[in-house]
Amino acid sequence: MPNVPNSLAASTTTDLSSMELAEIETALQQFGHATFHARQIFSWIYAKGIVDFDQMTDLSRELRADLASRVRVATPRLVEKHTSEDGTTKFLLELEDGRRIESVFIPDTPSQTFCISTQVGCAMKCGFCLTGKMGLLRNLTAGEIAGQVRVLANELGLRTQKFNIVLMGMGEPLHNYDNTMKALRILNDPHGLAVSPKRVTLSTVGVLPALERLASEPLMPNLAISLHATTEDQREMLVPVNRKYGLAEILDAARRFPLKRRNRITFEYVLLKGVNDTPEDAHRLVRLLGNIRCKVNLIPLNEAAGIPFERPADARVNRFAAILARHGLTVSVRKSRGRDIRAACGQLIVEGARRSAAQKAAALLEGEGVSS
Ligand code: SAH
Repeated sequence: MPNVPNSLAASTTTDLSSMELAEIETALQQFGHATFHARQIFSWIYAKGIVDFDQMTDLSRELRADLASRVRVATPRLVEKHTSEDGTTKFLLELEDGRRIESVFIPDTPSQTFCISTQVGCAMKCGFCLTGKMGLLRNLTAGEIAGQVRVLANELGLRTQKFNIVLMGMGEPLHNYDNTMKALRILNDPHGLAVSPKRVTLSTVGVLPALERLASEPLMPNLAISLHATTEDQREMLVPVNRKYGLAEILDAARRFPLKRRNRITFEYVLLKGVNDTPEDAHRLVRLLGNIRCKVNLIPLNEAAGIPFERPADARVNRFAAILARHGLTVSVRKSRGRDIRAACGQLIVEGARRSAAQKAAALLEGEGVSS
């Protein structure tokens, strides 16, 4: 169908991309086909990276033709790809409805890592995050979340290798809980990419009810909590959702969170010059985390136009880290990868076709000019 717009084709067929294997079996049954074909199809999509039914050569011609008329595998379309000096690669992807998202590949850290988005934009509006400026445009479907992994694995030729996934792209994964968890189940299926939940890290600002739900998930990813502050007032200023789910409650939930042997919760802490980077902050952080099995990941701010904070000097970052380490906390300082292509933490914001007012303002501040 050469000139049929994506959305037209989309409206007439059933999308398999958001389905777990068992759901594809049910769909096949409804179409009057044998359910065992579901495994073949699933393996083509995920293990072999093929979504065109014509190329699924172990299915009969009749089945392929029938499938092509009834179903599709919605797949994010690669629009642009930029590689940073340090090898970090940012992928701009377009979804069926024309919305755009970004995913990032971070090589050798020491393993290969995909940084995946869970929403178009984000509702959390953290004061230092550019994605927050977009607001929430919509949730991603499970298929769109897992689809980013398919596209990146295909593009990078990493389908058969081990890679890590961090849910640290655009969006708040616990604000799109069901689709995020479903994507993890799809990615975990042994007939597909077989990504172990041990290789997945979910980063959250701490949406409390969802965090508590996560505690009883059968397929549990590693947990990272974006803390960023050591008092309720300070956190409310930086992370508005703290008004609803406060620092103390989140730390309580973290303390109760079930951890496997040798596993620890990561606390992320963005360092903002003169705001939350003083020795007093470091000492308060030590007291807050004292009885939690955790490690701390310090993220010196990635600055951007429109973000009213500054990145502290390295000496300040080191002083902060040293206080934590001296008091027995395991601490790392996140290297900012891909800052030259705006692929670093908090820098994902989609430009182009559908700019929000905030994006336009940010672009103007950067002196790029605004065209759409
Ligand atoms: N919504 C999830 C995932 C977001 S991104 C969460 O809040 O955890 C992953 C991390 O990048 C978060 O800790 C986030 O606070 C941080 N981040 C956001 N903007 C940043 C910036 N400008 N510089 C450095 N880190 C930033």
